[in-house]
Amino acid sequence: MWDFETDPEFQARLDWADQFITDELEPLDMVLRHPLDRTDPLREATIPKLQEQVREQGLWACHLGPELGGPGMGQVHLALLNELLGRSRCAPVVFGCQAPDSGNAEILARFGSPEQKERYLQPLLAGEIFSCFSMTEPHGGADPKVFTTSAVRKDGTWVINGEKWFSSHARWASFLIVVVVTDPDAAPYSRQSMLVVPVETPGVEILRNVGIAGQDHGDGSHAYIRFSNVEVPESAMLGSRGQAFAIAQTRLGGGRIHHCMRSVGLVRRAFDMMLERAVSRTTQGELLASKQLVQEMIAESWLQIESFRLLVLRTAWKIDQYDDYRRVRGDISAVKAMMPRVITDVAARALQVHGSLGVSEEMPFISMIAEGHHMGLADGPTEVHKLTLAKELVKSAQPAPDVFPSGHLLRRRHAAELKFASLLG
Ligand SMILES: Cc1cc2nc3c(=O)[nH]c(=O)nc-3n(C[C@H](O)[C@H](O)[C@H](O)COP(=O)(O)OP(=O)(O)OC[C@H]3O[C@@H](n4cnc5c(N)ncnc54)[C@H](O)[C@@H]3O)c2cc1C
Repeated sequence: MWDFETDPEFQARLDWADQFITDELEPLDMVLRHPLDRTDPLREATIPKLQEQVREQGLWACHLGPELGGPGMGQVHLALLNELLGRSRCAPVVFGCQAPDSGNAEILARFGSPEQKERYLQPLLAGEIFSCFSMTEPHGGADPKVFTTSAVRKDGTWVINGEKWFSSHARWASFLIVVVVTDPDAAPYSRQSMLVVPVETPGVEILRNVGIAGQDHGDGSHAYIRFSNVEVPESAMLGSRGQAFAIAQTRLGGGRIHHCMRSVGLVRRAFDMMLERAVSRTTQGELLASKQLVQEMIAESWLQIESFRLLVLRTAWKIDQYDDYRRVRGDISAVKAMMPRVITDVAARALQVHGSLGVSEEMPFISMIAEGHHMGLADGPTEVHKLTLAKELVKSAQPAPDVFPSGHLLRRRHAAELKFASLLG
């Protein structure tokens, strides 16, 4: 069964979200410092009230199942909602589904002890606190086998030493989920564990908050953190000892597809701006939209956006059908790998069509291009996702029967001649 329509009942909810984002969130984006910055009086005066409206609509924390206070709407509906949220910087916070809190809530729910759930998960789900996932280290992020931040047992505690890099939102977080080496002699993917560390624990030091070029303008949110003899109780371990890698895999699956759909929303904005400019600006006596090379940019952008969107929706559909992230690992890696190029290509074309205005600080295109590069690194570099996809695809391939490929024309012709021998004479 193939169906490209949204059911009317859910479409009505999407329409509400669409209007709400247009009327309330997009204007707020223009004046808000950061949606997580509780020291900003504007934030405190606006975001909680907007969150309340989202709750009243039953759209709060839509990535969660009913057991965790969400509606459990499934990935296809979630993808369609995220497409709208992608238009606004503060929308994920207002709808209670921002990274890394969404992924952290997922693993706390799945692997947390009752005490961890009460202390961290409940306030996180309620939007009362924020969290951070601290895994990447200054000397490497794509290869988890190189991490060295360690936790050693001492008198009923874990003592953490090391440094972490690009720990997003640590400056606003109440706790960090830190990946630490607890078993250096174990097999490579069983050496690390996760510890939940309150940020106020002595020895946790944010060395600096790194900003994204073209986006943060000196006020970054990706922390370079040093852990110096940080002591946490044994009960701070999340999941079993040595299980960090396996837990991290489950954490990132859902988040990646949400990011992909938000990217569709973001890139559509660039596309709409490109169209508007093309039918507004004239050169050499005719509209830009009449120039064939501009038409090519418009057509290429549409093709990229729409094919990406369909692939993301199909992946969401597969997640709903199989309910098993391992079966859709290749699909998730595919859309994650495709996303950065779609954003940077379309944003760069929109910039070009706007000429000098496009490259200026008065338009959002450079920031969108930075977002594309951001998406090519966060949650694993594009290259690694392409490797994952290729490995999944190769799994079902069969070797050729002999030195010539099974599609060798002589082989196929010979087989056909045998099949139709009586007719060929
Ligand atoms: C905006 C943003 C937010 C982030 N937030 C967090 C966070 O909250 N918590 C956290 O722990 N980390 C976070 N990260 C870090 C992110 O996970 C890492 O940047 C990523 O895993 C890559 O690690 P790296 O930067 O050390 O690059 P490296 O590991 O040094 O890799 C550099 C480059 O080498 C190439 N490469 C790497 N491996 C392979 C391979 N197997 N095959 C081919 N080429 C390869 C790729 O081109 C890659 O970009 C964030 C990053 C960004 C950009």
